[in-house]
Amino acid sequence: MNYQELADRVLAGGRIAREEGRAVLASPEEDLLALLDAAFRVRRRHWGKAVQIHYLINAKSGLCPEDCAYCSQSAVSEAAVPRYGLVDEEALLQGAARAAEAGSRRYCIVMSGRGPADHEIDRLCAAVGLIRARHGLSICCSLGLLDGAKARRLKAAGVERLNHNLNTSEGFYGRICSTHTYTDRLETLAAGRSAGLELCSGVIFGQGEGEGDILDVCEALRELAPESVPVNFLHPIPGTPLERLAHLGPRRCLRLLCLMRFYNPASEIRVAGGREVQLRGLQPLALYPANSIFVEGYLTTPGQGAAEAHRMIKDLGFEVDGRGRSEAAKKEGVAHIR
Ligand code: SF4
Repeated sequence: MNYQELADRVLAGGRIAREEGRAVLASPEEDLLALLDAAFRVRRRHWGKAVQIHYLINAKSGLCPEDCAYCSQSAVSEAAVPRYGLVDEEALLQGAARAAEAGSRRYCIVMSGRGPADHEIDRLCAAVGLIRARHGLSICCSLGLLDGAKARRLKAAGVERLNHNLNTSEGFYGRICSTHTYTDRLETLAAGRSAGLELCSGVIFGQGEGEGDILDVCEALRELAPESVPVNFLHPIPGTPLERLAHLGPRRCLRLLCLMRFYNPASEIRVAGGREVQLRGLQPLALYPANSIFVEGYLTTPGQGAAEAHRMIKDLGFEVDGRGRSEAAKKEGVAHIR
């Protein structure tokens, strides 16, 4: 397969075909650098060599009635995770200060649960203005299922982006969750979009899905066109239903990131949860297709510290960028097309 021809077509506004997606997934080991190089050309057009750093706070932990199989906070998880209700304003502000110190442009406020209650939305909206005023951070909320009224309140309070992952294909969704549906998730995303929120929506690879599911969710995300696509690799946590699933392996993870770049050429693609445990020593290579990472850990698992992440980025010859796509692309002297 000629990966550069694929990159040329994608850069010209064309699409990756499903058979090409299959070929990327099945690419031979000796092609890995050529594949990364082609994906990097696409990434560089839109994002230069900038890496966006994201920092998240688990603002409400455990206590969830849903049964998402990958999640340590679910009703069916036996993992020992902290359990607490929505943290107070001071804790949200302290988290924002840590995000700013870590070089993050964006602060992701995540709550466990099926969806937020009105009183939780009240408290979040009150905190958002203070966080923006003190730290100038963009704010993303990940709160579970939302209706239009709640999404509009978040937008009015100054939330910029809504995270709600598709997680997997429509066909596989029933295998990882029975308490809500793929359609519920699409409706939440539609509510966010209608409210004027940017969308962050991605996947968790490594849940036992087949190749067809991988391509289906990539195609669904292409149609959704989220501004940001977090690509998580399952971190099988003891006590969760998926605890025994084998790791994907670092080179498979790199192919999946390249695939997502070809499907969503202009989106911010974040190598998200599972980065450290699944990519191991190949983590720096993930920044050729991806342009964004989390630092200082995930919801219930630790991750790479900010200083180490900054060093990794610098060692690659890339740079931490808190300014977003337009500025980064301008610096590279290239136009972004979306
Ligand atoms: S992913 Fe969210 S909704 Fe699903 S079990 Fe975990 S906290 Fe609950």
